[in-house]
Amino acid sequence: MSAAGQAAAVLPGAPHLARRGATLQLEGHALAELARRFGTPLYVYSRNAMRAAVGAYQRALAGRPHLVCYAMKANSNLAVLQTFAEAGCGFDIVSAGELARVLAAGGRADRIVFSGVGKRRDEMALALEAGVRCFNVESEGELRVLDEVARAHGVRAPMSLRVNPDVDAGTHPYISTGLKGNKFGVAHGQALAAYRLAAELPGLRVEGIDCHIGSQITQIEPYLDALDRLLDLVESVEAEGIGLRHVDVGGGLGITYTDESPPAADVLVGRLLGRLDARGHGHREVLLEPGRSLVGNAGVLVTEVLYLKPGEVTNFCVVDAAMNDLTRPALYDAYMGIEPCEARPGLLPQRWDVVGPVCESGDWLGRQRDLAVAVGDHLAILSAGAYGMAMASNYNTRPRAAEVMVDGAAVHLIREREQPAELFAAERLIQH
Ligand SMILES: *Cc1c(COP(=O)(O)O)cnc(C)c1O
Repeated sequence: MSAAGQAAAVLPGAPHLARRGATLQLEGHALAELARRFGTPLYVYSRNAMRAAVGAYQRALAGRPHLVCYAMKANSNLAVLQTFAEAGCGFDIVSAGELARVLAAGGRADRIVFSGVGKRRDEMALALEAGVRCFNVESEGELRVLDEVARAHGVRAPMSLRVNPDVDAGTHPYISTGLKGNKFGVAHGQALAAYRLAAELPGLRVEGIDCHIGSQITQIEPYLDALDRLLDLVESVEAEGIGLRHVDVGGGLGITYTDESPPAADVLVGRLLGRLDARGHGHREVLLEPGRSLVGNAGVLVTEVLYLKPGEVTNFCVVDAAMNDLTRPALYDAYMGIEPCEARPGLLPQRWDVVGPVCESGDWLGRQRDLAVAVGDHLAILSAGAYGMAMASNYNTRPRAAEVMVDGAAVHLIREREQPAELFAAERLIQH
């Protein structure tokens, strides 16, 4: 136990979140106080945690041509994008809506890579007009459509082929997007032919190669396997006189939710650069597309305890955040840490299922958690900075939560709490 006045981290990989005495703080700000000031449910992010996370990637890449493209689907609040734009990041986008957000946040179009298996023509046109850095193309059909759209605009679309490296499932069963049989990317065996086609199409300009093998990856080996597969292709493609400027190894690095111990970003990058050097590709520009690992452990979701319902089988702790605010537990059976914002040393912990108000049995945030709580207390759901607010919905006509960014001594409201009337403002009654 830490003495009052001394801060103790509560989760590995989240050094900006600490308990000082009884009080849980993010960058020194008491979460219970922020909850009283801004209401709940409330997302709170640490700006310096985000800066530290991206800094680890960037320092490891220093001295090399590189671009870290924040995969913004993890958390697309404008102030979050602004933070990464100011840190020199590019962005990995998957829709025209995300393109509009980057531009609204002051991000540079020439640092955007456009991923996604189902880009529409109008989205391609908008991205071409904005002048994005690269289209990450996922099929032969998309190559032909992009060529047409680019020629109609009188430009050549910069492109990379997203290759499905088919990293060995037996060795790495947790990889979900880099295997044969899923919808992403061009099969490794078809990639060379696709590059030949791309090189012939007058509306395209071949720039690089990319992959993205999955998410919440906690080992380095699958990345090295995928990189080897990419480099094999790079060598075959260049042997035919088609030059490739960059290698984009995607995102997917995991974070600590409970007892995972993913490699640090600089360790992962160091190993990737080592492999590039060893194979004679040290000169090549390296792109990365991290999402979760830049924001996940920078944020928490704060919620208030509404009711305690001890039961014959299960004790329920009913809070005011729900599956619409934070979907990961309901959607993936995901474990997220839960900590009281003010510890109650005098109260004996009991075992609770922490559930929300939504009318679904799947509406839970944590199961079988030993917590000393009382009605009116605030709880923090940890590691909620990634795929939290970004996946929130208005199910049950629940206004989405407010978002706050702390930055040293400063506290910024970066998204106002929605009001119910906003939720149906676009709907129309039928006129009689
Ligand atoms: C989602 C995604 C990422 C980021 O994944 P994380 O697991 O959040 O790091 C990167 N690249 C592409 C193409 C993605 O779809």
